[in-house]
Amino acid sequence: MAAMASDRRHRLAIVQYGRMLHESGFVAATDGNLSVRLDESRLLVTPTCISKGRMRTSDLVLVDTDGKRLAGKRRVSSELGMHLLIYRIRPDVYGIVHAHPPTATGFAASGLDLNRPLVCEVVVGLGSIPLARYGTPGTPELTDALEPLVPHYDAILMANHGVVTFGPSLESAYMKMETVEHFAKIALVTHVLGNEQPLSEKEVQKLYEVRNRYNGGGPHAAPHKPRVSSDSIRLDETAVDRS
Ligand SMILES: [Zn+2]
Repeated sequence: MAAMASDRRHRLAIVQYGRMLHESGFVAATDGNLSVRLDESRLLVTPTCISKGRMRTSDLVLVDTDGKRLAGKRRVSSELGMHLLIYRIRPDVYGIVHAHPPTATGFAASGLDLNRPLVCEVVVGLGSIPLARYGTPGTPELTDALEPLVPHYDAILMANHGVVTFGPSLESAYMKMETVEHFAKIALVTHVLGNEQPLSEKEVQKLYEVRNRYNGGGPHAAPHKPRVSSDSIRLDETAVDRS
């Protein structure tokens, strides 16, 4: 009974955060997908071909960790492979959100990451936000592009596609999605104003110490340090491998 009550709670959370994704304009039409890890063998995932703004709890699909459908009438998200990859690599992750928020996706479609240390709380909360190279949705190309980044980051821009965020709960994954889009807007305004003043390396180091304290010094405590330089937004050749 306790397991069923907990399943119900997670179903309601997915429906609620799906609605928030839609209302925030982070997805259009039937875009995006969300999932929760219920236990070591079962994931609850959103179905394909439905607006994430108007799902019912009965629309969700229960799958095992190999992606096999255990329950649910609908077809599971075509991006299931991305969710399976992240849960496999990151045992600390219990919730994943994928969306196409317009500003952050604009960066991802311009070959730009969000690694510049412009806002202190983003450095503490997310470290930096890298850009994964492009991969066709629903194929191993996409998961191969994400795989090297997943151990080190909780939010990743996906070139010419969108954003994926993850964390110890669906709520934390959703909040990270909001932070990414909000920060992308700030980075854009900063660029337009033409007087970008990123935090110094010394200040970034202090913020990383705070970040490591929050994260308890675990393996995920210190992702790559964002680059600190004085030039403006530009292509990041280290993050985007277009070969
Ligand atoms: Zn997508």
